[in-house]
Amino acid sequence: MRRSLAPSQKNPSKSTLNFVTPFINKRKRTSEQQKVQPQRFPLTPRQSQLVSLPQTEYERLIAKVLSQPFKVPIANYVPEYHANRSLGVRRATVRKALHDPFACNALVLYTPPTYTEHERVTMDPSKMLVHVVVDPILSNILRPHQREGVKFMYECVEGKRGAFNGCIMADEMGLGKTLQCVTLTWTLLRQSPDCKPTISKAIIVCPSSLVKNWEKEFHKWLQGRLHCLPMEGGSKEDNIRALEQFAYNTSQRCGTPVLVISYETFRIYADILCRNEIGMVICDEGHRLKNSDNLTYQALMRLKTKRRVLLSGTPIQNDLTEYFSLVNFANPEMLGTAAEFKRNFENAILRGQNADSSDKERQRAVEKTQELIGLVNQCIIRRTNQILTKYLPVKFEMVICAKMTPLQEALYVNFLKSDKVRKNLQDCNEKTTSLTALADITNLKKLCSHPDLIYDKVLARENGFENAQTIFPTNHNTKEINPELSGKFMLLDFMLATIRTNSDDKVVLISNYTQTLDLFEQLARKRKYPFVRLDGTMSIKKRNKVVERFNDPAVDCFLFMLSSKAGGCGLNLIGANRLFMFDPDWNPANDEQAMARIWRDGQKKPCFIYRLVATGSIEEKILQRQTHKKSLSSTIIDNNESEEKHFTRDDLKDLFRYEPGILSDTHNKLKCKRCINNIQSEPPPENSDCTSHLSQWYHCSNNRGLPDSNLAEAWRTSKCISFVFHHRSQGEVKATSVDVAAKREAEALDVESNCKKSKKSRRISSEDEDYDEPQDDSKDSDFE
Ligand SMILES: [Zn+2]
Repeated sequence: MRRSLAPSQKNPSKSTLNFVTPFINKRKRTSEQQKVQPQRFPLTPRQSQLVSLPQTEYERLIAKVLSQPFKVPIANYVPEYHANRSLGVRRATVRKALHDPFACNALVLYTPPTYTEHERVTMDPSKMLVHVVVDPILSNILRPHQREGVKFMYECVEGKRGAFNGCIMADEMGLGKTLQCVTLTWTLLRQSPDCKPTISKAIIVCPSSLVKNWEKEFHKWLQGRLHCLPMEGGSKEDNIRALEQFAYNTSQRCGTPVLVISYETFRIYADILCRNEIGMVICDEGHRLKNSDNLTYQALMRLKTKRRVLLSGTPIQNDLTEYFSLVNFANPEMLGTAAEFKRNFENAILRGQNADSSDKERQRAVEKTQELIGLVNQCIIRRTNQILTKYLPVKFEMVICAKMTPLQEALYVNFLKSDKVRKNLQDCNEKTTSLTALADITNLKKLCSHPDLIYDKVLARENGFENAQTIFPTNHNTKEINPELSGKFMLLDFMLATIRTNSDDKVVLISNYTQTLDLFEQLARKRKYPFVRLDGTMSIKKRNKVVERFNDPAVDCFLFMLSSKAGGCGLNLIGANRLFMFDPDWNPANDEQAMARIWRDGQKKPCFIYRLVATGSIEEKILQRQTHKKSLSSTIIDNNESEEKHFTRDDLKDLFRYEPGILSDTHNKLKCKRCINNIQSEPPPENSDCTSHLSQWYHCSNNRGLPDSNLAEAWRTSKCISFVFHHRSQGEVKATSVDVAAKREAEALDVESNCKKSKKSRRISSEDEDYDEPQDDSKDSDFE
């Protein structure tokens, strides 16, 4: 009989055929083996035939296990909690939780009262309450802070923490807010103490760029157990049909129980969605709801749902109105109406913060602040990504002061000397924020980045550049970038070259201006670096593709260029581990968000963040204001008591003053005691890290002791760095978890100092208006 010549039949049997254990061969004792026809080997050779025959009882047992004919078809199968019920047997009449509350790692959200045996027998079995236990596929991957977050949110929305059902999850970027919400939603959709689903439908409202992302996250974490209805694009008829189907479906178990929709689409179709009751609504990037006059806000308020979860990575800033809007959205009755809130809290608090307030008024403000914080903290949970340091590789943050080139400096000084600019400045000081003053700020910022960015204005002889053309070299053209004309660009050029030659790291470049991105592109072309660029104009679909491609380690794509205005929110760029913030933003939250692109879950390499500022220029002042704002925000939200110095009010007024010939204006302003003649003589405090104030970072006026050899080399070769602040992420976790009671206690002790600080904040925010950048409407374009 001929065997089939198919390769699958030929090869494996051949190899087994040829192999004969020398041991067996020698003894020639197993007649049985000899009788076995070579053609009839089983497809999987039995272990026992290859090794010698079992000698002892014990060996025989092992051999039996090894040759077990039946294998569980699913690898690593763990029988479920209910699996001891045979198929076809009726469900037991005794109610049982969906998942085993006593299993290892079980996350129990609700524990029923313990029933005595007698009660068990006598009580109506349909009234017996059961545990609510998070599905093990989720609880097994949740990190400790996420478990705590899920529990907190569950207790809020179920009214277990007081007479309210909403909450604000204000965890910082990268702590897994999405996963926590997926867990909460999935649990509510499936379980309740009553042994049936708590809700039948949920809506996720988010920026349009994140709709797809939410759907992906649901799919990823629940492994396809739940179907979402993502609303993006589509014709009007289709959308209406889909939404009506969703809204009118009243069955307890919907096919697609979760709708993911963008803010603007929600507003368009609010009428359909507001007609029927919805179990829960989650608003991602919830700080968009900081204005209660906004149409989207009002549309969302009309939703018939009591469970409202607001997610916000950038917490409530020191503004009472904002505070009110957000809390009022989550829990409409907590603070009363806007008028009541004003009467009850706002007036008293603001009065106490006036410089000429009486002691009594101040005392009252303290009491009111305390009362407000006490109320609101019941429904807010916020952890900083300090927690992450446990799981993430180390992050080094560097603030690099780069000297301006002679050309930049000449243009800069010339600009500030111009009569028109000086006049604008005066107007600005008299509290009438003129647009021209804002434009002046923009011009200076651009000049700090590269003279090419303002060359067209020079040619047009615009304000401040009336006679600037003579300063440029005669043959100047903007066709090809000349990095040598800008200190920061030179530095960037050197750094990129060193990184490219010394490693296979990828780099993210961020700027506030798309114009700067154009220059990045020119530079990349000049040096033949492969790159991708993402800005506001790119469709979301394309965006995702670009990001995926960049993150693929097999793809040689060196640079990712990103405009900070393009709304980098949600972008995950862990393919890169180095990031340049080419210019500082007024709002520290924007910079934070940008930096969280690479230092986040999944990152395996140490991360380097380079924040570039032009020495002595307006950029340093922006940086100073940024640090200032940041410490304010942390006093209000995190109640971080720190004795950090703040920049005084006069400091903030000198935006337009240029400081020539210094190493770092910021360092000078710190009046640093750890440095002698700009050489650091004492290291930063031991418990400090890159979230600490700049005064507690490492200070470097030469290239020794830098954490990054690329930077040290670039410093040596480019000679355009004047000063560097650097620090790293903390290796161990500081106690940051939110224990409301403990927190409130701490606040009670700190009220006095808090009040002083919020007073300061008030003063500064009123000053904000003088300088503030034009609002970046691009991010809120969803609304109008
Ligand atoms: Zn110093």
